[in-house]
Amino acid sequence: MKAESLFWQQCTQAVTDDGSIDAEHLMELVIATYRSHESDYEEIERSAEALLAENRELKSAFGLTTQALAEQRKLFEIVLNNLPLGLSVFDADQRLTLSNLRFCQLFGFSGDDVAPGATIADLKRKTRGSEQADARPRGRKEGQQAASKAGRRIRRREWLMDDGRIIQSVVTILADGSNIAIHADVTEDRRAAERITYLAHHDPLTGLPNRIRFREQLDAALAERGQDEQIALVHLNLDRFKSINNTLGVSAGDKILQQVAERIRASAGSENILARLGSDEFAILQTGRQQPWNITALADQIRRELSEPFFRGDKQVELSVSMGISIAPEDAVETDKLLRNAAVALSHAKADGRRRERFFTGEMDEKMQARHALEADLRAAVQNEEFELHYQPLYDLTQHRVCGFEALIRWNHPVRGRVSPMEFIPLAEEVGLVVDIGRWVLRRACNDAAQWPEDIKIAVNVSAIQFTSSDLPQDVGEALAAAGLSPSRLELEITESVLMENLDEALPILHALKERGIRISMDDFGTGYSSLSYLSSFPFDKIKIDKSFVNDIVDHKEAHAIMRAIILLGDALGMRVTVEGVESAEQMTLLEREACDEIQGYYISPPKPFGEVAQMLCMPPKKSDSVTPLAKIRR
Ligand code: C2E
Ligand code: CA
Ligand code: CA
Repeated sequence: MKAESLFWQQCTQAVTDDGSIDAEHLMELVIATYRSHESDYEEIERSAEALLAENRELKSAFGLTTQALAEQRKLFEIVLNNLPLGLSVFDADQRLTLSNLRFCQLFGFSGDDVAPGATIADLKRKTRGSEQADARPRGRKEGQQAASKAGRRIRRREWLMDDGRIIQSVVTILADGSNIAIHADVTEDRRAAERITYLAHHDPLTGLPNRIRFREQLDAALAERGQDEQIALVHLNLDRFKSINNTLGVSAGDKILQQVAERIRASAGSENILARLGSDEFAILQTGRQQPWNITALADQIRRELSEPFFRGDKQVELSVSMGISIAPEDAVETDKLLRNAAVALSHAKADGRRRERFFTGEMDEKMQARHALEADLRAAVQNEEFELHYQPLYDLTQHRVCGFEALIRWNHPVRGRVSPMEFIPLAEEVGLVVDIGRWVLRRACNDAAQWPEDIKIAVNVSAIQFTSSDLPQDVGEALAAAGLSPSRLELEITESVLMENLDEALPILHALKERGIRISMDDFGTGYSSLSYLSSFPFDKIKIDKSFVNDIVDHKEAHAIMRAIILLGDALGMRVTVEGVESAEQMTLLEREACDEIQGYYISPPKPFGEVAQMLCMPPKKSDSVTPLAKIRR
């Protein structure tokens, strides 16, 4: 209240009834007013001081907060600019509000380019690269749906930079239209992924598509096949390639495989699909042609190309190829079946003497089914021990007595009856069952022989697979030990396939066996490709001349001359000679005259069960027509 109006009010209150002013009363009022104002003043003074103190406190707190904020901002900038990922934030007007150093590096922007306020359009223009059309990775949909529930959307973008780098951006668009994005250089990851995909689908040695890729290509070709269109599938396998690897070494084998791939590629041309299915297996897919003519012509050409010698340094290598062909839709319309049928046809090409092609036929399928059934039965036979050994005498021509027996396996099948070893041994070899069968034969033969007189030997056939897929010396050692049989009474008969397929592996095994006193015979001599060359690779104790050489020796001079030459050869090498398949007295007489050591054949006796061995040992000597001087003279 203004002073005048306050004083006016005090005067009014001091007016007496007669209209005069009571001076004393006025004085009191004025003093009272002064007093009350004095106390207010003190209060105001006190409040002002408190306010000042608070203000000071606030000021110091504000100073501290500003300092902390500055520090935090510094830390934020350090983190931001040292992030391995690029970061950008654009406001709702698509203007840059924040970015980091990595963002500039990734896109090659200068500091000026990324000044706050720069627009997306500006930056896009300055980017040295282009946005990829469809770089959205799988699973994007779910991510996007989940994000849109929270009012956000996530977009993936990919940039192919002019220098070849690939940059991926993940942009989170907020509800107000602003966005936060992180950017990464995915070049290395992408290259590694591409490499992995490539390696998973290609053969590193030849660069050809592998089995997985070929299946995909075949799947696609079959799916796209027109109604009248034919698709031919060739399954190629190099003949006896394993022996090349064994003799020349794996790296030389690899080089030759590369040359093979090159020749097949040249023959097949770019219009056919070519693949390497496995070590020495290839495949060709031909579409859009009339079959079987076109594929026959191609197969012919490949066979010719591969029959030209290969060179590895100064070494010349001869190769041949077998091929199985199946055609869609005639043979099958499904990938698996078409592949299987080509493989079946290939196995027939191999069985028919290799270096040829075979087209799949329904008959082959039946044979295949029969083979599968036989295989199943054979597996059961091993479990149920359905085998038996028969023994055929080996007859010593100088002593005119039985000097040993060859163990020959017999399979008595409950339904099939007696199955010939010629039928089931090759199958057992193929499926690896021959290892178990061979072990059983060794044990049984040694046990049986242990019951015979000391000077009677036992000959056991051993297949090539037993050399590579089992520990033969151990199996032999265990069989001898279990039977208590002297190693010198055991003869192992091997065919040249043992040496042909894996000479390096087989030789040390043969030497180890021989060192223990076990004898080694070369069986079926003369039936293979190069029996003579293998004869010099190992000091065999015996050669068994195949029965095919015996048939005509009595009536044909040439056959006789060959037989004589082989016997002389064995003699010269210090190897005992046994002639197999002797069926008549005349044959025996002639062989005796040629100083053959030993014979085996129906003339002496067919193979018989164990129970008849004693009887065979007691049989009277087989007399020849006359004891000829020729043999006596040469001995
Ligand atoms: P191989 O080792 O050459 O056995 C001789 C074969 O000729 C036997 O046939 C025998 O019965 C037959 N044979 C004997 N004398 C005569 C004859 O005077 N004339 C004619 N035409 N044939 C005669 P088998 O027992 O059928 O055996 C056939 C083949 O099966 C054997 O040929 C051998 O390679 C194989 N084999 C037999 N047993 C075994 C075995 O235990 N293990 C292995 N790995 N193979 C076996
Ligand atoms: Ca034999
Ligand atoms: Ca034989």
